[in-house]
Amino acid sequence: MAYDPDNIFAKILRGEIPCNKVHEDDYTLAFHDIGPQAPVHVLVIPKGAYVSMNDFTANARDVEIGAFFRAVGKVAEMVGVTEDGWRMIANTGANGGQEVPHLHVHICGGRKLGRMIPQQ
Ligand code: 5GP
Repeated sequence: MAYDPDNIFAKILRGEIPCNKVHEDDYTLAFHDIGPQAPVHVLVIPKGAYVSMNDFTANARDVEIGAFFRAVGKVAEMVGVTEDGWRMIANTGANGGQEVPHLHVHICGGRKLGRMIPQQ
């Protein structure tokens, strides 16, 4: 799947639409999810144009991958979920339920989150 430069997170990265920023460095941006599913719900995205975790792990440089996961840990600490626990979610592709085609991980916490995958 080709990267769509008009996806909503690309627009956030270009400053065309606002976000409630938590953290930014040379390689990553983190901001609050617009529709939180938990008391804490933050998204971490790479600044590079990667569609999904598939694309990122196959094509990103090591420095981007390292910075991204360092940022995930840092943001979890910043939003105060590391002590009580939290969940990182990376919905990927159609079966994964990915809606925005720019890699993002969700950091969710602030309450017990229940089963990892709801039973059908
Ligand atoms: P996905 O289903 O792709 O894993 O998650 C996409 C997430 O992006 C959803 O949780 C949704 O609430 C969030 N989202 C969609 N549009 C925006 C937006 O314009 N701003 C922010 N902050 N979050 C968004």
